[in-house]
Amino acid sequence: MPVTPSVLIIYTGGTIGMVEDPKTGELHAFDFKHLADQVPELKKFEVSITTISLEKPIDSSDMRPGNWAEFARLIQENYTLYDGFVILHGSDTMAFSASALSFMLEDLSKPVIFTGSQLPIGTIRTDGKENLITSIEIAAAKIDGKPIVPEVAIYFEYQLYRGNRTHKFNADHFQAFQSSNYPVLAQAGVTIKYDVNAIQHYVPGKKLKVSTQMDTNIVILKLFPGISAKVVKAITSIDGLKAIVLETFGAGNGPIDLELFSYLESALNKGVVILNITQCNSGSVVQGKYQTSSVFNRIGIIGGADITTEAAVTKLMYLFGKNLPLDEIKTLLRTSIRGEITETA
Ligand code: ASP
Repeated sequence: MPVTPSVLIIYTGGTIGMVEDPKTGELHAFDFKHLADQVPELKKFEVSITTISLEKPIDSSDMRPGNWAEFARLIQENYTLYDGFVILHGSDTMAFSASALSFMLEDLSKPVIFTGSQLPIGTIRTDGKENLITSIEIAAAKIDGKPIVPEVAIYFEYQLYRGNRTHKFNADHFQAFQSSNYPVLAQAGVTIKYDVNAIQHYVPGKKLKVSTQMDTNIVILKLFPGISAKVVKAITSIDGLKAIVLETFGAGNGPIDLELFSYLESALNKGVVILNITQCNSGSVVQGKYQTSSVFNRIGIIGGADITTEAAVTKLMYLFGKNLPLDEIKTLLRTSIRGEITETA
């Protein structure tokens, strides 16, 4: 007798879990214990589904590292009981949460699939039902008894993406997410087509390790033509600052402004880590390709290759949260620890 796969759904908030009051048109969160009433299709599934909901579901704009820690702990506590996990989450900061979870859950060997929707699940044109149903199918999917997607991923509008490679790029369209620097992990159509070469490989016998400590002494500094050295001075002198995600132009370039460099350099000398990532939607930082980025190499700024802003921020929070020596943090920033960057030679 085949064993029925089991999936734990964790409802955290966001549009997907809202229903419209037919009289007032107002949106309010519905009780996820009655999920099957909203999505009767689930009864036809040969998957045993359990749902839990945060006590107070939240809009994802209000997510904090403490919430990520709660999701990680829920997965840890239920890890051996389920074949896979689906996290229902608002789309606004889903890429941050998925990136954070990818770092917090080391040696993961089960699917953790984030999904949500642009329209509430109770509305006629909702994208939520398809997103939910297919996410459950992916979380339960196995080949030869092994999970097909043993990693943290985002499923949205027929595409499955690696969580820490994804960003929200559209506030209106059903297709709200993109993974510009990494192939989609699966495409859902009549069947779900998995790109097994792009998906993390299942390694038997791995034991899940969970680290929930995140250090938030991090800032994003986005360059723009005309940025004043005064602003850079103020940011680099923030008390207790551990790292700066420096969003530069194109392949990692910035203005040749000696005063600005001097502030970055003094932050580096104080032990602040500076990670250079591109403002472009896709492509990679190659420090030293242009004169306008060579100086970054010289003063010790780390090239972030093709990492997303979401993954850069959460990776830094995670690495500093682990209290690792600075040199190790710098090495790990150049290394793909969860498939979040394409390593350069
Ligand atoms: N503001 C909502 C949220 O991120 C939007 C959504 O659910 O997609 O929670």
